[in-house]
Amino acid sequence: MYKEFKYVILGAGPSGLSFAHRLLENGETSFLIVEKENIGGGLCRSKDIDGSPLDIGGGHFLDVRKKNVLDFLFKFLPEDEWNKFERISKIIIRENEIDYPFESNIWQLPADEQIEYLISISQAGCNNNKPMPDKFKDWIYWKLGNKIAEEYMIPYNNKIQSIDLDRLGTYWLYKLPDVSFRDTLESCLKKQQSGTIPAHAHFLYPKNFGYGEVWNRMATAIKDNIEFNTSVESVDFNTLVINNKYKAQIIINTIPWIELVGSIGIPDQIINEINTLEYNSIDVTYYDESVDTSAHWTYIPDESISHHRILYRKNFCANSIGYWTETNSKRSISGSNWKHTNKYAYPLNTIEKPKSINAIREWSESKFVYGLGRWGEWEHMNSDVAVEKGLNLADFLIGKL
Ligand SMILES: Cc1cc2nc3c(=O)[nH]c(=O)nc-3n(C[C@H](O)[C@H](O)[C@H](O)COP(=O)(O)OP(=O)(O)OC[C@H]3O[C@@H](n4cnc5c(N)ncnc54)[C@H](O)[C@@H]3O)c2cc1C
Repeated sequence: MYKEFKYVILGAGPSGLSFAHRLLENGETSFLIVEKENIGGGLCRSKDIDGSPLDIGGGHFLDVRKKNVLDFLFKFLPEDEWNKFERISKIIIRENEIDYPFESNIWQLPADEQIEYLISISQAGCNNNKPMPDKFKDWIYWKLGNKIAEEYMIPYNNKIQSIDLDRLGTYWLYKLPDVSFRDTLESCLKKQQSGTIPAHAHFLYPKNFGYGEVWNRMATAIKDNIEFNTSVESVDFNTLVINNKYKAQIIINTIPWIELVGSIGIPDQIINEINTLEYNSIDVTYYDESVDTSAHWTYIPDESISHHRILYRKNFCANSIGYWTETNSKRSISGSNWKHTNKYAYPLNTIEKPKSINAIREWSESKFVYGLGRWGEWEHMNSDVAVEKGLNLADFLIGKL
């Protein structure tokens, strides 16, 4: 009565696709991916807009730290099909434009501004032996001082997160650049950037396609194992039956847990934990105008402007024109330009999130349902990390059945 598989994977984004391919590499063919869209890639999908690819999940660039992940991705889009770029990203701060990260590039501002920033950083809690706070907003003041906090970090995060910043924790901040006061001082005196190199200092982008191409190829290679255009409506956690149609021995969940609250067999306490998980939504809007800049993208902290980032696709996507913006959907303004809303864009790092997601995953694994990727683990992660986690989970599970 049911179609039976050893593994049913919910979602054909980078994490689900990588998990599936690792199964295949190990000779395991009894798996199915259930995907609500008509194409694989999730947030990393691209679509042709105005004659060139546009990354509908927002600006996506590949910066892989692990060789095995890079080798895995090159199997689908070989190395010679990628261009390598040195990142050029700017921050617009009032009438000035400086490179990212802010703390390493204060030297690019007028001298009297540099003095004000340096004094402010010298007074920050981290430079005066104050303990690190538990809340994100307090942490910003503690780490960067009042001036960077109020002119850049708080307005920018108000825009992208669109949540009371006091509700966010600090456990995820290891992902942000860590520039010391000494580094900032040194960069101002030497008039050059110093301190740690930010993520994506170099990045790869497909030569002839959008970022979605690698995932599209990955999905196409296993298209007979993917049910596209099929939304996961229900999972019976007692029998591991999905949509009353597919039966699994193990389920890999890469879709937002919130999508599963109507399912069968979830205890009330776990439903409550799922309901505490929060996310934000991002609108990507295309403009065909030409902007004279060498930057790949620009951050806009000014709260009077709705979007927080501009991506100049002509500077990384061959033969393209125009740019797109990223705006938290709560701040988005209507207009006639092409727009795509990513309902699930960023999992929010609320103070209570680690406790909730740990409880959910611990319970679900006892039912042979494994959370994987950005939504299964409810964690900001780049696509290379989603791939790595998919490969690792498959390695862990292979042979268990
Ligand atoms: C604005 C932005 C910029 C980013 N920039 C970068 C970058 O520069 N570099 C980088 O490496 N990463 C970047 N990322 C992160 C990257 O998008 C994620 O790491 C990656 O997409 C995670 O893959 P995933 O498979 O875990 O989740 P997703 O890509 O979200 O895939 C989940 C899949 O589940 C499907 N799904 C959801 N609900 C259902 C349902 N009910 N039924 C069936 N299917 C469902 C979705 O359609 C999707 O295909 C960025 C993310 C955002 C939002």
